[in-house]
Amino acid sequence: MGPYALGYPAFHWVNGMERKTLRVAVISVHGCPLARLGEKDTGGMNVYLLQLARELGLRGLQMDVYTRYHDPADPQVVKLSENARVIHIKAGRWGETKGNIYPHLPEFIRNLCRFVKANDLRYDLVHSHYWLSGCVAVALKKHLSIPFIASFHTLGEAKRRVLPREREPEVRIETEKKIMEDADSIIALSTEDKKQMIGLYEASSFKIEVIPSGVDLNFFKPLEQRAARGELGLKDAKTILFVGRIEPIKGIDLLLKTIPYIDCRERPRLIIVGGDGGGNGEITGLRKIVGQLGIEGDVTFTGTVSQERLIHFYNAADICVIPSYYESFGLVAVESLACGTPVVASRVGGLLDTIKDGKNGYLVPWHCPEPFAERMELLLENEALR
Ligand code: UDP
Repeated sequence: MGPYALGYPAFHWVNGMERKTLRVAVISVHGCPLARLGEKDTGGMNVYLLQLARELGLRGLQMDVYTRYHDPADPQVVKLSENARVIHIKAGRWGETKGNIYPHLPEFIRNLCRFVKANDLRYDLVHSHYWLSGCVAVALKKHLSIPFIASFHTLGEAKRRVLPREREPEVRIETEKKIMEDADSIIALSTEDKKQMIGLYEASSFKIEVIPSGVDLNFFKPLEQRAARGELGLKDAKTILFVGRIEPIKGIDLLLKTIPYIDCRERPRLIIVGGDGGGNGEITGLRKIVGQLGIEGDVTFTGTVSQERLIHFYNAADICVIPSYYESFGLVAVESLACGTPVVASRVGGLLDTIKDGKNGYLVPWHCPEPFAERMELLLENEALR
């Protein structure tokens, strides 16, 4: 496994004498590591959590990931790997969306503490993911008298600044500030992520450690392009790929608008992986843009795709495009690069750390179609640059 946030050691010493396994309560109220990926609220954080818990478990740490019950059919405890498990905690109604979870956090904390007591569990550390979970960690730190590490994955204030229509609630911003004050340590996913914590929230820089996400190089790897296309039933043609949640922050509308500007010998096709394939309002809006641009024949929406199948999409593509307005890290970039496919990305967030302009892809500083199209064209037309 690649360098998934290995922020803590497997053992610690008690009174300088006894070597003990580190037991970590991982809190991820809304992001279940077992969820289907690519839907509205399931993406990079779920992948990260699953790999982090599994791998640290295999290295001997005790990793318990606490998340909300999403479905009454879920068993309460699911094993992920040796020493790592997911524990479902009831809070609010089934099917509650991320935006409505905040009022149910006291119930989550109560039920979690009950589970810990009933099972006589003792933890050395709490690691929270996203601001909702940070809220829980602030309470657990007091209740269990143990330190906590906070990971945010996205920052409300940063999202607000790039896309005001995202309407991040005030309570989120205030809570993120409080979490940054209370946490004993904070994990930022990129240099830019750390800068934003300091610049937008006045977080103290000595607490923040930049630990980038990683990718499993035994899993995401280069394959023969024609074979990958064959696996997906795709004819040979220049291919542009987008992978991710279908959300305004991902800038997919901008990507669609680049298509008429691309002036290649051979007309490229655009494949959009993610979303539920049709039902959600965001996809309906994107399909409308496709119609207005008259590019119906060039664009395919696949809906969500498993990671096993995604490897073939990355390998079938000539380029992967990430036109986001904001990315705290951007796992899709490293997955694509691991498959040998260059990336054309917005010059934002974690992409500044992973994309080396002109080496493994291009960073585009403007959010408008022409400069994106120009970089995409360059890579599509020049095999030597890929
Ligand atoms: N993903 C997936 N299937 C899909 C769409 C996305 O497995 O249909 C995965 C993708 O491989 C990546 C993650 O979802 O691991 C998206 O992570 P990223 O950091 O790029 O974006 P985020 O969701 O965190 O905004």
